[in-house]
Amino acid sequence: MYINGNWIENTALSHFAVTNPANGEVIGEALECQEAEVEQAIQAAQQAFKTWSKTTAYQRSKCLYRAYELMLEQKDALAELMTLEQGKPLKAALNEVIYGADFLLWYAEEAKRVYGETIPSARSDQRFWVNHKPVGVVAAITPWNYPISMIARKIAPAVAAGCTVVLKPAESTPLCAIAMFKIFEQAGFPAGVVNLVTASNPAPIGTIFCAHPAVRKLTFTGSTAVGKHLATLAAPHLKRVSMELGGHAPAIVFEDADPVHAAKGLSLVKFLNTGQACISPNRIFVHRSIADPFLAEFSKRVDAMPVGDGMNPSVRIGPLINQAAIDKVDTQVKDAISKGATLLNGGEAVILEGCEKGHFYRPTLLSNVTPEMKIYREETFGPVAAVIIFDTEDEVLEMANDTHYGLAAYLYTNNLSRAMRVFEALEFGIIGINDINPTSAAAPFGGMQESGLGREGAKEGIFEYLETKLGGVAI
Ligand code: NAD
Repeated sequence: MYINGNWIENTALSHFAVTNPANGEVIGEALECQEAEVEQAIQAAQQAFKTWSKTTAYQRSKCLYRAYELMLEQKDALAELMTLEQGKPLKAALNEVIYGADFLLWYAEEAKRVYGETIPSARSDQRFWVNHKPVGVVAAITPWNYPISMIARKIAPAVAAGCTVVLKPAESTPLCAIAMFKIFEQAGFPAGVVNLVTASNPAPIGTIFCAHPAVRKLTFTGSTAVGKHLATLAAPHLKRVSMELGGHAPAIVFEDADPVHAAKGLSLVKFLNTGQACISPNRIFVHRSIADPFLAEFSKRVDAMPVGDGMNPSVRIGPLINQAAIDKVDTQVKDAISKGATLLNGGEAVILEGCEKGHFYRPTLLSNVTPEMKIYREETFGPVAAVIIFDTEDEVLEMANDTHYGLAAYLYTNNLSRAMRVFEALEFGIIGINDINPTSAAAPFGGMQESGLGREGAKEGIFEYLETKLGGVAI
């Protein structure tokens, strides 16, 4: 743990083990914080806020830019640690480190662009002006599936705005968080500006974050169920919250699209991070007239995806994070098959030689999926592509929007009018049009409905950490 500029070591606190999901080996340990450490971290952040909030954006930018440089200098070591701790293939881990570093770079610049405005008054003797100030101490909770970039995506805009932070990472990936905080330390952030607390049981920390009077804002990325729980705990204290929650992305392939091109793109994004991504397409709608060539190409590509330890450079499908994830995926697949889905690839967990304690599931392709199946309603978070055949645009829009989630959606069409029309009709926050990677530090990321509140990235991302102040003066 990193509190007030010090690494907490040699204490009487106990530790919890961190394991490699590819083989079950213990790769390290992290400290179990108690209430006292959370309190110390919040107090350190509160104290540091007094001076950090008064620094200039140019000073804050320097620390962020240095952290960006350090991340890039250490990118290979960070990627390797991520593969060992979280399981994704090394190349994907490296891409994530670079994506995360980009938030530090982008907010190093954006810190300088928090402009105010003047507003004309109806009274000739009055002037209005508006400016922005940091909200205060921020409590941040991050997930395991993107264990480095989710930290950068929260810390960068918060400290750019002039806030100070106490962060709790996921219990499966504290080592990536520790590596990131070593970078923040080396980058020269003053003591107390960023603080890290770790624990294997997150609930007591969440309760303190939501109720502590010094915490002004909670930013959370994780499941919708936990997000709702934390929002409920924060509500009596009227704390500001940002919530990046679960998804159930539809992907629509219209009859005028190239089915081979669409199958290539969607098979890439579906199996990214072994399907453990909030923007992973969970329901792939394909027009009946091109379903056969689409499925043939998709199936061929799934067949060519080696499963294994992400440290092996030829591996495309790493392990799932734990046994519970395997069980959830397998339940959805069995439920779909029992209700009439056709299994084209995979469909089972697999034990690999040398990785007997790993959590592997074969990349799976199901067609003829229907609304009665669990996979049509629930986030899968695993390597299963579920294909649904449709006939008309109206029908597919109704099906695509038939979910309480609203994070990402994708569509493939060569008809510009249709692209615009469908973009407007889809009730999702992020829409890829003939594109599978609609995310960047420069663009606002976030969901509608039960996928969350607020945005990360872009100018919207820094405003999550700013208050608006109005001045009205008689002249
Ligand atoms: P999770 O909700 O179980 O855990 C997320 C974080 O919350 C972890 O740090 C965990 O320790 C903590 N947590 C769990 N229970 C808590 C409690 N009672 N009080 C305080 N903290 C608590 O989710 P997960 O399994 O780690 O992550 C997967 C989920 O995250 C998926 O639903 C995925 O879609 C979502 N996600 C969303 C985004 C996004 O940007 N919208 C990005 C990545 C992941």
